[in-house]
Amino acid sequence: MAGRSYDIVIVGSGPVGSAVARTVADEAPDLDVLLVEAGPALSDPPGRHVRTLPNVEDIARAQMLAQAGRVSQPPQEGRIAARPGTYLIGDGVVDSDDTGMPAAAMSTNVGGMGAHWTGSCPVPGEGERIPWIPRYEFDTVWADACGLLRVTQSAFDGWPLGAEVRSALSAVFDEGRAPDRRVQPMPLAIEIGRSCERYWTGIDVILGDVIERGAVELRAETLVTRITLENDEVTGVMIRDRRGEEEYIPARAVFVAADSFRTPRLLHVSGVRPPALGRYLNDHLQVMALARLDDRLIPAAARTRHSRTAGTLELFSGVNWIPYDRERFPFHGQIMQMDASPVPIDGLDEPWPGSIVGIGLFGCKDIAAEDRVAFDDAAPDETGLPGLTIRYRLTDTDRATIDAMKKAAADIAVALGGPVGGEEPTVLPNGNSLHYMGTVRMGLVNDGTSVSDRLGRVWDVNGLFVGGNGVIPTPTACNPTAMSVALAIRSARRAIEDLRGATPCTKEESVAT
Ligand code: FAD
Repeated sequence: MAGRSYDIVIVGSGPVGSAVARTVADEAPDLDVLLVEAGPALSDPPGRHVRTLPNVEDIARAQMLAQAGRVSQPPQEGRIAARPGTYLIGDGVVDSDDTGMPAAAMSTNVGGMGAHWTGSCPVPGEGERIPWIPRYEFDTVWADACGLLRVTQSAFDGWPLGAEVRSALSAVFDEGRAPDRRVQPMPLAIEIGRSCERYWTGIDVILGDVIERGAVELRAETLVTRITLENDEVTGVMIRDRRGEEEYIPARAVFVAADSFRTPRLLHVSGVRPPALGRYLNDHLQVMALARLDDRLIPAAARTRHSRTAGTLELFSGVNWIPYDRERFPFHGQIMQMDASPVPIDGLDEPWPGSIVGIGLFGCKDIAAEDRVAFDDAAPDETGLPGLTIRYRLTDTDRATIDAMKKAAADIAVALGGPVGGEEPTVLPNGNSLHYMGTVRMGLVNDGTSVSDRLGRVWDVNGLFVGGNGVIPTPTACNPTAMSVALAIRSARRAIEDLRGATPCTKEESVAT
């Protein structure tokens, strides 16, 4: 049965699909837009970040729904526990030789992982940016993305000991850096309300009122099972709703933003199988350490403001940022001041609020075509679509990067006062950063190493766009969501032009535009 037709169907309602929907609704209100999401709404109205829900019961219920009904497992030796609101793709068993991606996870709900994310939106540095996107062009869509995501560096202004931590880090890391790449508060996707309350950006913020005013139709609990094509041209999608009813939805364009595992899978089941599909999978290398701020770095004024005594403990923590710098510090540093726990952390006395500092470093993976997600038609998952299998290895270059990250994390701990309990930095398992990239990467030419052109249009198929972290072709260390939203806004604008009948540029012409 054929349903109503649309100009564009967007698959996946995470931050990327929602940014595409918002862009089309605002910039081309005459176009009919359908946003299809496999998972349920976690809030009413839909799309709130779970941290903005009113109480812990609602949050726990929402996280459970996002896990496709899977119950969170407690951590066990040698086995990964998924983060709340996410569930693992595999069995979570960590191999002794560091192969595979045991922590690979996803979320299935309106808002995708964007209902659970932390919201760090660091600006990509020189070396992380995509070299063939002109700087002015990227900067324009970056600003648009930050506007949609409500990125600010003021969300935690004045948090306990934030300035002291920043100044201790600046003394070590700022020399020789451009002002915008020095140690600074982390840009975060958080709105600050009139009474200074923080509201984490979910897709309710990204979409604004587009659903309310009927500019975008959202269908939750509806799986896109296939993209339909005729002579290499998109004709629509097949969907299956929660009752199991199938429907054909005619559409002139389809934009797939269904995460880095399920976007290539949907192309695969639809018979769109460019050689790079699912390949070049990469995730940030990740190292963590815990430091305790030296008492001498805690100024008298801070001692007066925040005593060690119970009752004055702060319930939030701030995050500082050591930006990626290709020459001096080729990592992305998130320096998080942990909530000042009333539980003594290292068996010593109760710490000053803000004085226990989590050091998180992300590093660039050595990208290889062999690292990939593959689709097992013979072993479908619970949706009936092919099962996902991941092949992933660390190279000698990766091991060297991890060693350098461990050293850098240990140096940071020392600069701040010393590691808690004298502990060495910890290397986190593959997939832990939740930043899966590369599987539908953009490219300049159709030479088998990319899935889409520089605007996200899938090679050799008219009307089919891809978006999400999977399109990022460069090795990066920074959290990718804002970059993916920026690239998706750019692709959405191109989709509007194509739908408006602009002479579609050939892939070669698109290189020069
Ligand atoms: P997703 O948010 O994954 O959404 C994809 C959606 O597509 C899902 O809802 C899925 O159900 C749907 N879908 C899949 N297949 C189909 C289908 N066939 N039909 C219909 N729907 C389908 N990133 C950062 O940059 N900074 C951070 O600080 C950060 N912190 C994070 C913390 C946590 C705990 C988590 C879980 C993630 C974090 N991330 C962070 C990652 C970030 O959330 C993702 O990069 C981002 O959500 C990706 O957006 P997306 O729209 O591409 O995909």
